[in-house]
Parts: sequence; structure tokens; C-alpha cells
Amino acid sequence: MRRISIFGATGSVGEQTIDLIQRAGGAEAYQVVALTAGRNVTRLAEQARILRAELAVCADPADLPALRAALAGTSTISAAGPEAIAEAAECPVDWVMSAIIGAAGLVPGLRALAQGATLALANKESLVTAGPLLMQTAARHKARILPVDSEHSAIYQALVGEDLSAVERIILTASGGALRDWPIEALAAARVQDALAHPNWAMGQRITIDSASMFNKALEVIETREYFGVAPEQIEVIIHPESIIHSMVGFHDGAIMAHLGSPDMRHPIGYALNWPERAALPVAKLDFAQLSTLTFRAPEMARYPALRLCREVMAQRGLAGAAFNAAKEIALDGFLAGRLGFMQMADVVETTLERLTAAGDLRGSGLGNDVMTLEDVLEMDHLARIRAAEAISSTENSTGISA
Ligand code: NDP
Repeated sequence: MRRISIFGATGSVGEQTIDLIQRAGGAEAYQVVALTAGRNVTRLAEQARILRAELAVCADPADLPALRAALAGTSTISAAGPEAIAEAAECPVDWVMSAIIGAAGLVPGLRALAQGATLALANKESLVTAGPLLMQTAARHKARILPVDSEHSAIYQALVGEDLSAVERIILTASGGALRDWPIEALAAARVQDALAHPNWAMGQRITIDSASMFNKALEVIETREYFGVAPEQIEVIIHPESIIHSMVGFHDGAIMAHLGSPDMRHPIGYALNWPERAALPVAKLDFAQLSTLTFRAPEMARYPALRLCREVMAQRGLAGAAFNAAKEIALDGFLAGRLGFMQMADVVETTLERLTAAGDLRGSGLGNDVMTLEDVLEMDHLARIRAAEAISSTENSTGISA
């Protein structure tokens, strides 16, 4: 029986992974080793009971008594804290779902790779903050990373049997997010609930807002560069409001391979779970007669400054990705807390990158752009969070925005 662990089990991707596992037979079909959550210990304990998990770990030690109480009468071992989550990733398994949100997913992913597990990677932030480190760790331990982001799963599938040297370009499709049809002048006043009204995908709160600002797409551009090893200028972004084409690969001979399907994360999750086989999945079949049209448009750079910023990050490489992601996470917290306007998130990220560059902090580890240690990455993550928080405070002081 395959041994599996799910990190971020209580989130949107985690729940959909568990849905597929239950449909495939649950604890009768998989030996579930570790399940982890942030603070939702009630749901974590329920999942652990249903799947007879060996280990359940939450992020905050203050929640451990509640987790223990919720697991009373089971044989599931409970633990808490970031180090306990990282240690859970060291339990030998065949397959790990990396679906913690944010930079917190990096260390567990690295530990899972170090024990040779196949890492189903939803946590794109790992590749953005420490792409070379993640890829090198996988290579050193002969571990495989399978992309779970729908775009990267689509590209991966389009590349099966192909030679990467034949690739001319990779075209990432983007829905454009909840505010894609708003006049640009109105975006400054967009509220959290406006940015959460995603037209096509049901996702977690943070990624849905990142989708509206296209910070999510900016992360995905960097993720593409790091995972597939293509040059930044080979990566294009096109708005495709219907979200039916999940991404495309263009080859030197002019052929374009497009991956089509219903916008349902259970497809890329299921592909990674069943790889290298394909199993039936509970995903709606495409009805082309109903679809009738697929439309495309170029993203306006003034509307989506994140798409410009990600190009600058790729030009710098080194620790710039860690700084970009950390600043983005803090700016998003600022928007959620009502401390920043929607368009000010990009201003905060840009200011943070500028200040770190001016101070010489983005020089990297001195080991070269492709070599980085985990300590360097975590230090930069920490520093960028401080600089971004300072940038939010100065933005608040100059604009008077408050919760
Ligand atoms: P959610 O916010 O829905 O879930 C995040 C998960 O991580 C939850 O289990 C949460 O626990 C846990 N968590 C939060 N903070 C911490 C922490 N500090 N330490 C440990 N665990 C933590 O996120 P999504 O499922 O939407 O996204 C997960 C990842 O997948 C992200 O990297 C995202 O970019 C990526 N992704 C998501 C897609 C989607 O459709 N949702 C599509 C493509 C990629 P708790 O429930 O207790 O808060």
C-alpha cells in the first residue's frame, strides 16, 4: 500500500486531495502517515480519524491540547509547531502533497525531498523563494517533484515525451481574476470581498486575491522558470477568461500543445496522485458545443504591476525570489487587514525590492545565483518581511488608510 502524507490538509488543495483519496478507498487504499494544518485542529482531527492517520500536526503549539482532546481514543500521535511539521516530513513515505500556503511550505518540502519522496507541489512559494535549492535537493536525493498548479501540470503533461530543447515558448493562461473587467481607475478602491469573487476557480482566500492582483500569475511565471529551466523571455502570459486552456507549450516547429479541461483542481491533484498512470477523476467533462468560444487578450501592464515585478525578480535571481514572495505575503496581509488599498500591494512589494537592492541585501549568498543555502533564504524571507512592514507603515502615514 502506498504511504502518503498531506501538508496543509485542511486547506482548499488539501481537502480536494483528501476527497480524491477517500473516493479511491481512503484508509483501505492508502496508508496515511502525516496530516498537518495551521490552526484548524477540529478539521485536522476529523481527517485523521477518517483516514486513520499515524500523525497529526498543527502549526501552533497553543492548539496542541485541543488537538489531543479531539483525537482522544484514536492511535494518532499529535504534535505541534513548525519544527514538528518539518519532522513529520521526514517520516518515510512514497508521496507527499505540499499544500501549505506561503513560505511556511518550504522547509517541509525540502525535508520530504531529502527522504526521497515524490513531492506533489502545490506550494509554488517554495520554487519562488528557493527554486535552485529545491531542484538541487530533489536531484541529489533522486526524488521527483510533480507540479500541482493547474498551469504547471498542464505544461508538464504537454511536455511528456518531448525534448525541452524543442520548446520555443511557454504560454501561461490567466483568468484575469475577479477584477479583470473593472475600469483601472476603480481598482484602487477594490475591497477584499470584491477581489474574492473569482469567476472560475474555487480556491483558498489568499490565492484568490493574488489571482485578482496577478501576483499569483507572477509567482507562476517564476515557478515556470525554476521548474522547467526555461529562460524568462520564453514565458508569456495571456488572459483567457474561460479558464478552459490551462496553459500551452509552443515548439520551434510552430506546433502548440494546449491542455484543456474543466477548471477543477482535482484534475492536477489527481494527475500527481496517480502519476505515471491516469485514473478516472470526478471532473466534469468538457462539452465543446456548450463552450463554443474561447477568448484571449493580452494583460494590461498598468492593471497588473506584479507581472512587471516578476520579470525584475527573474533578472536578479539569487535571493530576489525569497524577497518578492515575503514582501507579497506581507502586502497581502496589509490588504486583508484594511491597511493597504488593492493597488498599493504592488507598491509595497516594489518599494521593498528597491530598498533591499539599494542596501546591497539582494546580492545573494556570494555563492552565485544558482547556489543558495536554506539559511540565506530564511534570512532574506525574514528581512523582506521587516522591510515590507516598514513600507506599509510609510504608505499608511502618507495616505491615511486605516482599518
Ligand atoms: P488554504 O489557505 O486553503 O490552505 C492552506 C493550508 O496551509 C491549510 O491547511 C492551513 O491550515 C495551512 N497553513 C496555513 N498557514 C500555515 C503555517 N504557518 N504553517 C503550517 N500550515 C499552515 O490554501 P490553498 O489550499 O488555496 O493553497 C495551498 C497552496 O497551493 C498554496 O501554495 C497555493 O498557492 C497553491 N495552490 C492552490 C490552488 C487552489 O486551488 N487553492 C491552486 C494552485 C496552487 P488551516 O486550515 O488550519 O489554516
